[in-house]
Amino acid sequence: MINVSQIKKGIVIDHIEAGHGFRIYKELHLDQIKDPVVLLTNIPSEKMGKKDMLKIETDVSIDMDVLGLIDPGVSINYVRNGVVTKKLKLTLPREVVGIMRCANPRCITQTERVDDVHFYLVNEEKRIYRCEFCDAYTTFNESR
Ligand SMILES: [Zn+2]
Repeated sequence: MINVSQIKKGIVIDHIEAGHGFRIYKELHLDQIKDPVVLLTNIPSEKMGKKDMLKIETDVSIDMDVLGLIDPGVSINYVRNGVVTKKLKLTLPREVVGIMRCANPRCITQTERVDDVHFYLVNEEKRIYRCEFCDAYTTFNESR
């Protein structure tokens, strides 16, 4: 039985926008972790009204770019021996590599296999990125 209010070691992803928790669970492939993973949804939050939270009871490296693209407002707590040893506040990544796909149907990356395509943040508020090959704009949600 896992205590959902506190974990001994691992990572707590907090301040997830309500409704984004399951998407983060899927996009970070947390289903492949063999240790306990707890997804809490619609937790009352003073700051956010409602929020989701993910508790991962193991040391795992998280793809911060994917996480930042889905929800740049989350905070990450690293827990060791039941104590938070490190806190991290995420931001929208300036540059992402190999995560997004170009939305332009005439882009070379649509017809040729190009690995690790770079996208550069051009509009932080609207979360718009620019393709390194064709300069077309796209967002993470459009690129899925
Ligand atoms: Zn492109």
